[in-house]
Amino acid sequence: MLAETPVPADAPWRARDLAVLWHPCTQMREHPDVLPLVPIERGEGAWLHGYDGRRYLDAVSSWWTNLHGHAEPRIAEAIARQARSLEQVILAGFSHAPAIELAERLLAIAPRQPGRAPLSRVFYADNGSAGVEVALKMAFHWFRNRGEEPRTRFIALENGYHGETLGALAVGDIPLYRRVYAPLLAEALFAPSPDAYMARPGESDEQCALRAADALADLFDQHPGEICALILEPRLQCAGGMRMHHPAYLRRARELCDANGVFLVADEIATGFGRTGTMFACEQAGIAPDLLCLSKGLTGGFLPLAAVLASQTIYEGFLDDSRERAFLHSHSYTGNPLACAAALASLDIFEGDGVLEHNRATAAHMATLAAQVGAGSRHVADVRQAGMVVAFELARDGVRETPFDASLRIGLHAYRAALERGVLLRPLGDILYWMPPYCIDEAQLQLLAETTAAAIAEATACA
Ligand SMILES: *Cc1c(COP(=O)(O)O)cnc(C)c1O
Repeated sequence: MLAETPVPADAPWRARDLAVLWHPCTQMREHPDVLPLVPIERGEGAWLHGYDGRRYLDAVSSWWTNLHGHAEPRIAEAIARQARSLEQVILAGFSHAPAIELAERLLAIAPRQPGRAPLSRVFYADNGSAGVEVALKMAFHWFRNRGEEPRTRFIALENGYHGETLGALAVGDIPLYRRVYAPLLAEALFAPSPDAYMARPGESDEQCALRAADALADLFDQHPGEICALILEPRLQCAGGMRMHHPAYLRRARELCDANGVFLVADEIATGFGRTGTMFACEQAGIAPDLLCLSKGLTGGFLPLAAVLASQTIYEGFLDDSRERAFLHSHSYTGNPLACAAALASLDIFEGDGVLEHNRATAAHMATLAAQVGAGSRHVADVRQAGMVVAFELARDGVRETPFDASLRIGLHAYRAALERGVLLRPLGDILYWMPPYCIDEAQLQLLAETTAAAIAEATACA
């Protein structure tokens, strides 16, 4: 049914939006009364400037994509330069300099592990979920090519997230996204999460991680010859509530994959490019995966692009005279030159500006402020940090065993309270987190901390 009166072209953007757009991850019924809708005119550094004349501090890096600030001039210029010479070309049978150079540079910075051959091939896709599909299909297909047909299953972690397409959703464990589509999903095996928040009383983060690793070992034992890969988010389960685990888990998981002849897929779509303090989270455990999925921050947050880095062993498993043994997966925009140019410019910024080192100082500052915020409310049950990510877990009286009733929608109240104060926080349930662009400065961090404290106070006031 068409709207009875078309929205006039000079109506405010909000009204025009609500007449035609269907927003992601949104119950549209809640717009705009329960859930505000904020049309943005432009971005600059950590700020988003709205058509409402207000500015908002982007504390979530626009869904964890932005690294060096919005409209970063060097990345913008690199894209413009590339657009004037080659905007897109088929990547089958043809190639281009940005795709080649980016592959070289990603392989050069990929995590390494002594005694293990480095990752040696790059396959492009155009968003994170597509990258995950590529990695899963590669792992499965590799075993097919070897005649190991019973290896059809993946192990994933409880509370993990790998994207929304059906293959990626099948290895994800967030009920809110998964439950409705369950009848459509391939059956994965789920191992307990090493999540340190779930540690038993008296148990250290490391003991908790090793207990989860023991359960993973049991799962491997129960399914001999059936598994093709283990997929996980190293160090930090982001969509699962910014839950963090001890790197000891990753070392054991790596050993178990090797012992069982199974591939390890590291989904660093969110954790990659410095988010957890090191360029890649795997580095904190001293391990390298067989397949590494990258997206989100890959282009500095400018354009959609994903890269799957594969080991030489995996690559060679597809070399044959038969087309069917080849990896025939493709996307129209595979390795788009504009996106590759943006990614190259982002890597230049990492090197030229000493971003990782700069981030160490920023992260230390974030730690101090986060501790103050945590101490300022009796409803904060946990404050945790991994590099440039800080999370505040809210629970009644700060007791983990008594989370707030979901119907109170504490997180939504905090979201609105922060937005009114000019900060974009986007809680995951009742978990508030900071995941800002790396250019965030001291004054902005101060605003972020004060606003977070105020948002927590306001949201929990009547709870
Ligand atoms: C966001 C995310 C994805 C999916 O990426 P999209 O580009 O949103 O499809 C996959 N894995 C992880 C860990 C993510 O955070």
